[in-house]
Amino acid sequence: MSTRTIRLRGVRTNNLAGIDLDVPRNRLVVFVGVSGSGKSSLVFDTIAAEAGYQLNETFPPFARNRLPKWTRPDAEHISGLTPVVVIDQRRIGGNARSTVGTVTDAWTYLRLVYSRLSDPHVGESNHFSFNDPAGMCPTCSGLGEIVVSAVERFLDLDKSLAEGAILLPGFGDGGYWYAQYADIGMFSAHTPLRDWTEEERAALLYGGEAAAKLGRKRPKDYEGVVERFERIYLRTSDNLSERKQDVIRRFTRAETCPDCRGDRLNEAARTATVRGRTIGELARLEITELAEFVRTIDDPRVAPAVEALRARLDALVTISLGYLTLSRVTTTLSGGESQRIKTVKQLGSSLTEMTYVVDEPTVGLHPTDVGSMIRLLEQLRDDGNHVLVVEHDPAVMERADHVIEIGPAAGAGGGRLVFQGTFDELRTAGTPTALGLARRRTPKRDWRSATGHLVVADATRNNLCNVTVKIPTGVLTVLTGVAGSGKSSLAAELVAQHAAIVIDQKPVGTNRRSTPITYTGIAPAIRRLFARANGVPVSLFSANSGGACPECGGLGVISTDLAFLDGQEVTCPACGGRRFTPEVLRYTLDGLTIADVDDLTIDEALTRLHDPAIVRGLEQLSQVGLGYLRLGQSLSSLSGGEAQRVKLAKELRTSETPATYVLDEPTTGLHLNDTDTLLHVLDRLVDHGHTVVVIEHNLDVICHADWLIDLGPGPGRHGGAVLFEGRVHDYVGADTPTGRALAGSRG
Ligand code: ADP
Ligand code: ADP
Ligand code: ZN
Ligand code: ZN
Repeated sequence: MSTRTIRLRGVRTNNLAGIDLDVPRNRLVVFVGVSGSGKSSLVFDTIAAEAGYQLNETFPPFARNRLPKWTRPDAEHISGLTPVVVIDQRRIGGNARSTVGTVTDAWTYLRLVYSRLSDPHVGESNHFSFNDPAGMCPTCSGLGEIVVSAVERFLDLDKSLAEGAILLPGFGDGGYWYAQYADIGMFSAHTPLRDWTEEERAALLYGGEAAAKLGRKRPKDYEGVVERFERIYLRTSDNLSERKQDVIRRFTRAETCPDCRGDRLNEAARTATVRGRTIGELARLEITELAEFVRTIDDPRVAPAVEALRARLDALVTISLGYLTLSRVTTTLSGGESQRIKTVKQLGSSLTEMTYVVDEPTVGLHPTDVGSMIRLLEQLRDDGNHVLVVEHDPAVMERADHVIEIGPAAGAGGGRLVFQGTFDELRTAGTPTALGLARRRTPKRDWRSATGHLVVADATRNNLCNVTVKIPTGVLTVLTGVAGSGKSSLAAELVAQHAAIVIDQKPVGTNRRSTPITYTGIAPAIRRLFARANGVPVSLFSANSGGACPECGGLGVISTDLAFLDGQEVTCPACGGRRFTPEVLRYTLDGLTIADVDDLTIDEALTRLHDPAIVRGLEQLSQVGLGYLRLGQSLSSLSGGEAQRVKLAKELRTSETPATYVLDEPTTGLHLNDTDTLLHVLDRLVDHGHTVVVIEHNLDVICHADWLIDLGPGPGRHGGAVLFEGRVHDYVGADTPTGRALAGSRG
């Protein structure tokens, strides 16, 4: 007998307050609530985690070690789960061998078609794979690019060898390789290289023939600088250290492979044609056009492959990715693009009864494109699956079968079920989301005047059609346009031409132990408060002092590094993660021990720890709407949008001279009501004299802009032009995707 719901009882994961909830199955269910209310704790850390955990248990231990590690959620009862597929915004990443074609399997079908129909016949489908020795270009090993020495960066011609003319590390005076050039009697060590002859410089760099031509006595094993560099850095199978990789980045550059010209395939595979086109040409076509071409292949021998390929390509077009090419390397895709590709991959999968957990599928989508994303989710549902979506966009809530709101507030103020029902019922439910939905926004009229402007001139990056725009300074500018129209490309050009500062959504810091305390540098101030309140030395409260737990050295965790397994971290058994000795934990401040401070939220800390340095460190985090974070919470657990707001807070705290900031979709992960908080922050930056440029689809943000630049009209080749520059209200109702969205008609 199949259950009708996913049954959850007594859920206490993270901030959840013992939630009891039945989530309908075979429905499109949208989870809403203010940021930090506990949506992710419920959907990802409870439902997906429990499903992952239970699935894991069914595998033998060997396989289990290779699967993601799921921590069991804190709940009294969970039932009615099916295997979960998480579709999040983590970039597909992968490596240079992973392309839109390979990850969507479109390339697999295309290879099949070529192996059957190509003229001349080349071989099985692996002969068209650039990741298979049978098909790859031997020169670039199927990468389409080769790494070459950037020789022009090797030498400083104004210096002599003794002064460090060879800029590669280890080649200057005192360096390991220095004597191999300066002390062999072949070259003058004290003459600036500019005064050498052309032949001498060639001999120094290339050795071999060039050295022989010089006709001077030379060591038998003489090796030119380039030869040596390439041997020790490029033609080595060693694992390269961070430092060596950095040297390679500085002294090499990637060039299109001279043999395959980027097609990645060997000669046979890259010259064979089907209907007059090579497979490489097809890889470079926009998917929209490729789909057209594929429709012309009607040979019955390949009918099933063509059918599957068509379905895949059409799904990519439906989901507004028709502007991509199959050759596009996945590492260059944005988070939103990655997520949509992952969604397409799931379609046409023959598995049913899966639970899909989708995180903000509208990220990166213009209002016009949101409709197609929803249709895809509906299709997953209609294929017999359960679809759970965390989303802030009203257009998605509107199409949900069922809406669940967690709240009412963030952190400890949230974690409860505040609403469950249809979207129409939600509208009148009086919840924070209902209130947000009820507000109507119109373009503002009290614009700021620009203090000047930055000209981005003749931009041709990616799809930009030789665009020149004026970005007004000292105001808030919003860049709009459908996905793939060129917004990021224009922003990148602004950064390149005017050294603007990008506040992106990459994780904050690289250190897993980074917390709001370490990030803001308020630890000394906290220690001072405790020392003063208790009349003991400050050092007692420091993690590298006698007060720290001797077992874990004040880290609270103990790491074990086993040779072949992932490093494991366990809570320190001696202090239970509290990091200090029991003696230190006897000292309190306002009833809190130093370990309790970690559990305070930023907002609580601001009211309880009265110290100017602490207030200075934390107030901006509260202002950007992150007051619900705990002081000891690892910043590596933050979502992309939260990480971006942490960086925004840092700029608020530290930036003094007027600068230009670029933000890509800062509303990611923000509830309707939190958007106001974000707008305040952007306003403050502008009021400090900064220039702020944001890429946004959120209508509240667009309406708040002083200036609008709209790109389009379509994606990829069909975009890249400026459609509008001016005041937002002058654009309402224009006959473009953005104009229509502003007028209130959602695509
Ligand atoms: P939402 O998805 O609604 O934005 P979350 O579920 O991410 O909210 O967060 C709810 C609360 O739980 C927040 O106060 C957040 O700081 C906290 N939280 C989230 N993840 C963790 C974690 N791994 N450890 C401790 N607290 C967490
Ligand atoms: P938007 O930000 O408006 O979504 P982008 O500026 O990211 O659009 O993309 C504009 C066009 O440039 C698209 O056709 C996209 O596929 C292409 N493009 C973007 N980044 C790259 C890249 N790194 N390599 C090749 N093409 C790219
Ligand atoms: Zn090649
Ligand atoms: Zn310890």
